[in-house]
Amino acid sequence: MKKLKVPYLSNKEPTKDITKDDISYKLPKVTSRKEIKVKVSDNIIFSKKTLPIIAGPNGVESRELIFKVAKYLKKLGIKIIRGHAYKPLTFPYRSNQYKESLDIGMDWMDEVKKYTGMKVVTELTEIKYLDRLLKTSDILQIGSRNMQNLELLREASKSNLPIILKRHFGASLRDMLGAAEHILVEGNNKLILCERGVSSPHTHRSTSRFMLDVQAIVALKELVKYPVISDPSHASFWAPWVPNLTYSSIAAGCDGLIIEMHPDPKNSAVDPLQPLNFEQFRKVLAKSKKLSKLFNKKIV
Ligand code: PEP
Ligand code: MN
Repeated sequence: MKKLKVPYLSNKEPTKDITKDDISYKLPKVTSRKEIKVKVSDNIIFSKKTLPIIAGPNGVESRELIFKVAKYLKKLGIKIIRGHAYKPLTFPYRSNQYKESLDIGMDWMDEVKKYTGMKVVTELTEIKYLDRLLKTSDILQIGSRNMQNLELLREASKSNLPIILKRHFGASLRDMLGAAEHILVEGNNKLILCERGVSSPHTHRSTSRFMLDVQAIVALKELVKYPVISDPSHASFWAPWVPNLTYSSIAAGCDGLIIEMHPDPKNSAVDPLQPLNFEQFRKVLAKSKKLSKLFNKKIV
């Protein structure tokens, strides 16, 4: 039989997934085989053995709110509080209830730090806010929408603070690690990668905006030795699903978690379906502590 002549199909780059050549030539730093622990303070380390939990509301809505949350978290032993004072929204309209608290929000975070000794994560949305953030933030977050904002990544890297790089909801791991490599070439290796859900044809509930890509956690852990954390809140967008998605992230091997919580979720100024209330958060934490032991991890 005559052999069919098929056009040569290159198996070489570009591909959407990561090849051996990518590891050698495009992603050498982020895929280096040495384990990198990211230390925020003596008792807060993101590593193979430890699993810090970052919790807090979406935005720093008011001084009262952030103090209430911080006091509760402190009581539970949580050491890192989140809350954004500069806040990107998908749509340009802000409700009257929610204005960005901007620099004032950071001042409240400063007070919270002094009062509780907790560490603070806030999102860097624009280079112009960096100076203010540097006075207060112990960890900078690069949000999913800015994952490939390379100038922002470079400037964030130069700060030498730990950086949480959130995966864009449409990005391959190849693109995400490319962005991470941009941070690393600037000389800052305090990198924390965060899976926070991807766009998907089906999310199984109309309230669920994204789908937590648990497989990405496993795949990243195979590829990189930097900490990989999970944000089940932004992934599912739906508080009742957050507990089990938290546990599945721990089982997938995550090295940290971001969990959104609020004293009165239905009145949260942004995304009210997403945060856990105090009691729900307490329960998730208790179960996570038990579960993480099975995976030789300690929640800190
Ligand atoms: C957030 O952490 O509040 C946030 C907006 O996250 P993401 O960039 O993942 O949407
Ligand atoms: Mn949010």
